[in-house]
Amino acid sequence: MTAVIASSASERDAQAGKVNLLGMPRPWLESWFEEIGEKKFRAQQLLKWMHHEGVTDFDAMTNLSRALRDKLAAIAEVRPPEVASQSDSTDGTRKWLVRVDGGALVETVLIPDGDRATLCVSSQVGCSLDCKFCSTGKQGFQRNLSAAEIVGQLWLAIASYDAFKAGKDRVVTNVVFMGMGEPLLNFENVVAAMNLMMDDFGYGISKRRVTLSTSGVLPALDELHRYTDASLAISLHAPNDALRSRIVPINKRYPVADLLASAKRYIDAQTDRKRVVTIEYTLLAGVNDQPEHARELVELLADYPCKVNLIPFNPFPNSGFERPSGNAVSRFWKVLVDAGLRVTVRTTRGDDIDAACGQLVGQVADRTRRNERYRRSAAIGNAL
Ligand code: SAH
Ligand code: SF4
Repeated sequence: MTAVIASSASERDAQAGKVNLLGMPRPWLESWFEEIGEKKFRAQQLLKWMHHEGVTDFDAMTNLSRALRDKLAAIAEVRPPEVASQSDSTDGTRKWLVRVDGGALVETVLIPDGDRATLCVSSQVGCSLDCKFCSTGKQGFQRNLSAAEIVGQLWLAIASYDAFKAGKDRVVTNVVFMGMGEPLLNFENVVAAMNLMMDDFGYGISKRRVTLSTSGVLPALDELHRYTDASLAISLHAPNDALRSRIVPINKRYPVADLLASAKRYIDAQTDRKRVVTIEYTLLAGVNDQPEHARELVELLADYPCKVNLIPFNPFPNSGFERPSGNAVSRFWKVLVDAGLRVTVRTTRGDDIDAACGQLVGQVADRTRRNERYRRSAAIGNAL
């Protein structure tokens, strides 16, 4: 169920060189207006047009003078990334393939669940950290997304439900940085986008409902509290260094104890005392899903302020890993719960549209490679 929406590369090229205001948090936009000789309160007006009303055309911004609208149109733009395709799952999950500048594709997924709807956004094209069970990792790193491309994924999701007009109520209640890429390796743009998502002049989502997920880039995690108070999830996936280093290579540089300590410092720096770290643990059959791993995890997390999110592995071709059985998942879960940990198991959603981490883009890339192989062999055939 995939609708392909035409690309408009020529339109993009025509606008090259203009500053894209969509990804600018309030303080940046205020300075920018001052730099171009305007009053800084214009920033609030612009933010409301872009993020409350979904308006991208300066001409429609009727509380700005004609002269200012013309001036803005000459030097700036409000440009979300393009939707390359949109797929709807029978369970209500919606997935977009988003084409960013230069033509690369990233994915964004909206997962409705009761009165919540969580948007999973990407922060990079590919990822350099090479976790062994992650299809994004297998693609390697291409580039960081700009703040406009990150916040633009939220803009696109709301626009796709026509919800700006309807006051955008509840279309997206939560945002998680669990799409493609390692957010802490794109620090400045991710922080800018998160702060826009949480700003009342932006999307007004509470800090408890915007979650950054990291595999543990420690120097950046140590700095994070100075720039944002969003929620934090860490991708642990193993209860000890030997196992974690095998599946999450960055562990060789920043081991488990240091990661946990840094994450705790982050939440300790928050004024809100009730906050906890979300521990993500992807269950890989026969690798990290055994009762002894669960018991070791219980010991590791004793007295640690956290909740644990168990994620049964989402298989993809040639991954070399398997999803554990339902029984293995329940067994693991029970050990943690019996020890008093707060645990949730992430249910699989959007299976019919491959809405799991990195998968749709992976398949498109595969198809493209197959097409290339086909074209190459056809060309060879012609040459013969
Ligand atoms: N780079 C960040 C955020 C993106 S990945 C991070 O690693 O935290 C979001 C989560 O999905 C991470 O916990 C990651 O380990 C997990 N993940 C990646 N591939 C997966 C797969 N095939 N099955 C289940 N979880 C996966
Ligand atoms: Fe990168 Fe996260 Fe995938 Fe690891 S799990 S390769 S950090 S996207």
